[in-house]
Amino acid sequence: MKGVAKGIPSISDVDSHALVAWLRAHAEPAYRAKQIRRHAMHGAASEFEELSDLPKTLREKLAASFRWSAVELEREEASADGETRKALLRLADGHHIESVLMPHHGARNAVCVSTQAGCPMACAFCATGEMGLVRNLTAGEIVDQVRYWQRELAPRGERVSHVVYMGMGEPLNNYDASLSAARTLIDPNGFGISPRRVTISTCGVVPKIDELAQEGLPINLAVSLHAPDDRTRTAIMPINRKWGVEEVLAASARYVKRTKRRVTFEYVMLAGVNDSDAAARELAEKIGRHGRKADAHLNLIPYNPGPGGFRRPSAERMERFAKVLQDAGIAATLRISKGQDIAAGCGQLKVSEGKAAATT
Ligand code: SF4
Repeated sequence: MKGVAKGIPSISDVDSHALVAWLRAHAEPAYRAKQIRRHAMHGAASEFEELSDLPKTLREKLAASFRWSAVELEREEASADGETRKALLRLADGHHIESVLMPHHGARNAVCVSTQAGCPMACAFCATGEMGLVRNLTAGEIVDQVRYWQRELAPRGERVSHVVYMGMGEPLNNYDASLSAARTLIDPNGFGISPRRVTISTCGVVPKIDELAQEGLPINLAVSLHAPDDRTRTAIMPINRKWGVEEVLAASARYVKRTKRRVTFEYVMLAGVNDSDAAARELAEKIGRHGRKADAHLNLIPYNPGPGGFRRPSAERMERFAKVLQDAGIAATLRISKGQDIAAGCGQLKVSEGKAAATT
């Protein structure tokens, strides 16, 4: 891939209308727009020059006006099992983000995208939160993380099958770009992933959950709960001062009602903080009170080494926590956390700004 040039937009930051207008202004037929977008989203090409079914003059004009990708690989790491891969990607202005590929036994290829460089939400257990916010990503910078992994998968005849917005940043704090990227990803003329395979995750930005419910997009929502009560949740998630547990659960129930989609609750397991039987019972009671238990699914995520001095509970404790929830009628799954050895697990993504190096 050619270097990421500053100052000109990435092709994935240009929508169909703008691309048609650009083609007209350059005396090129409008029908080329579909062709260019299909290449950009589906193909394995890494620069305009490789689009050999486009006239050479058009390829040259495109290359002079647009960057092929908004992200450029700085470094890639693979976990010891060879499955999970993490890419440190450079943006045009020199900032860095991380993106993770999580294949699952050849059956699926999920990509975890970042929506911000850094994150302002300061969750106590999260490495990204330690960075603070550097800046929001553009829609193209989000989409191009998926395109990056797609180019890696294409030679073996595979495609990105799922996208989760669980990388660096709070997606709903960068709402327009996150949604615009989701639209491109699910557009049959864009990347073409089923909306049911796209999940936006939030730490609980209540007004934006309600806004998302009105969008008419049948995508999944994941809500980071991490505690059943306000005292504990505020201690580990500062956003809880603004929107407490009850408000977050009520917004999640409204999302389910409006979209008919199921909400997944994420729950990072922290020893001695949120892993007691009493916490599990309180969680089940509150989730049940805010909607049908059958609509909720809880992902229990073992804590990965990171900031805050937390510890992971024992396997027995986590299994017992899951059992209390299951006995109360809540679908709870203890997640096998992948990619810890390359700091690609949940809450581990972090870039040392200025040093172009991931903290691992
Ligand atoms: S857990 Fe998510 S919302 Fe919280 S600081 Fe980390 S990236 Fe931000």
